Amino acid sequence: MEQDLFATFQTRALAAPDAPFLILPDLSVITYGAALARCGQMAGLFHAAGVHAGDRLAVQVEKSADALLTYLAAQCIGAVYLPLNTAYTPAEVRFFLSDAAPALFIHRPQDEAAMAALCDELGVPARLTLGAAGEGTLVPGLSAHGANPTPHAVGPQDLAAILYTSGTTGRSKGAMLTRANLASNAFTLKDYWRFSADDVLLHALPIFHTHGLFVATNITIAAGSAIILCPKFDVAELIRLMPRASVLMGVPTFYTRLLADPAFTRDLVAHMRLFVSGSAPLSAETHKEFSARTGHAILERYGMTETNMNTSNPYEGPRIPGSVGLPLPGVELRITDPDTGAVLPQGAVGGIEVRGPNVFKGYWQMPEKTAEELRADGFFITGDMGVVDAAGYVSIVGRAKDLIICGGFNVYPAEVEALIDAIPGIAESAVIGVPHPDMGEGVVAVVQARDAALDEAAVLAALQGELARFKQPRRVIFVPELPRNTMGKIQKKALREAHADLFAAKVN
Ligand code: AMP
Repeated sequence: MEQDLFATFQTRALAAPDAPFLILPDLSVITYGAALARCGQMAGLFHAAGVHAGDRLAVQVEKSADALLTYLAAQCIGAVYLPLNTAYTPAEVRFFLSDAAPALFIHRPQDEAAMAALCDELGVPARLTLGAAGEGTLVPGLSAHGANPTPHAVGPQDLAAILYTSGTTGRSKGAMLTRANLASNAFTLKDYWRFSADDVLLHALPIFHTHGLFVATNITIAAGSAIILCPKFDVAELIRLMPRASVLMGVPTFYTRLLADPAFTRDLVAHMRLFVSGSAPLSAETHKEFSARTGHAILERYGMTETNMNTSNPYEGPRIPGSVGLPLPGVELRITDPDTGAVLPQGAVGGIEVRGPNVFKGYWQMPEKTAEELRADGFFITGDMGVVDAAGYVSIVGRAKDLIICGGFNVYPAEVEALIDAIPGIAESAVIGVPHPDMGEGVVAVVQARDAALDEAAVLAALQGELARFKQPRRVIFVPELPRNTMGKIQKKALREAHADLFAAKVN
């Protein structure tokens, strides 16, 4: 029988009720047994509020233990969990609620007025509120419900969650993930990354995104291990709690910020088993600097909302800076011609496609979009461009939509960024294409420097002889900080918009 994450959680809680599941920053512990009991009460409350198997349960709340347990309670009753970025405004939430038509919406107490009006207008039948410290209507409502849940019988192909993509290029799409999608990936990663019940994961990621919600939580459940749940990423907090952890999962910004703190030392992390990075490219420079400082090689992996995780550097064996590693067991990966879909030979740059038990069921109520991105043979067109080396390691060269075509030649941003990042004094770079009267698009490097003395001429000089002329940036723009979303991804669209007139202005 296929494994299911809620069943695994329940089995663990019944077999080892005293084992720690969530450790809070004040070091208080919620055991597996206590978490299951709380989940049982939540399941009763949600059910009483009118949520049945297959119904959507939308959540926009601050990160907390109860917030995380709403995910497990939703799994218990067979509901479809729909977490929303806490940064979304009521105007943005309107779209998700009208698109997904949830049976219940859990939101922050302080959003009461706006969300009550929205739910009335859209006909969302039930609401509960939950604050970071347990304020609101959810927690007081629990006491009327028993702690022993009877999980709703679900099948592996039933939906576990809908996660909306960030929608940077158009309408946000709801990726439908099944119970089997989540469970298969969690058990694969648990084995691949050697998780055991002894592990303690330092968790400072948001819990509305695939990384913090699924990768982190689901592996923990699969292994029966524990999570130290930090409300947000804070360098000093991570350094304080690191001695109690064995694994850290982060986005690249975690690692650059840790490295910027002198208190982040080799001694502090000598006991750590694993550092994982993903959700955005980890620069080879950061990888090397981290190894030099700590003696640990960060393990970089690659995944996305629609697929969970696809590739990972090995646990044993070389973790290659700048590469996202090998396809995970059970995941097939191929490189195709973005125009024709033809499979390309090893070594060629093209679109990355993946197939496996991790790949989602399709986009919620968007059959045409689903058909555009999921091929008939089951491969998903990721929208990322990449290349596979002779040893099978995958490198991402950029999003297809970030590809720059300069005078008819393809420029892959990652190649240029890697060289710029290696220039001493550069913190990070983002290479974009903006309209150019002559070349179609002109290559522009937007850089964040550590060394104030560094200027445009120095960056351009460093690239001479390293890159073909057409790949060399025509302009280098210095910014105090690159724009990022909550997952640390650089917002290239915003950069393209900000610099759209760069070359036009020159010609006029
Ligand atoms: P999301 O669906 O928000 O998780 O974003 C997924 C996208 O993030 C992928 O399609 C990639 O473009 C990017 N991404 C995730 N992990 C990595 C990585 N390790 N290196 C480079 N890009 C990554």
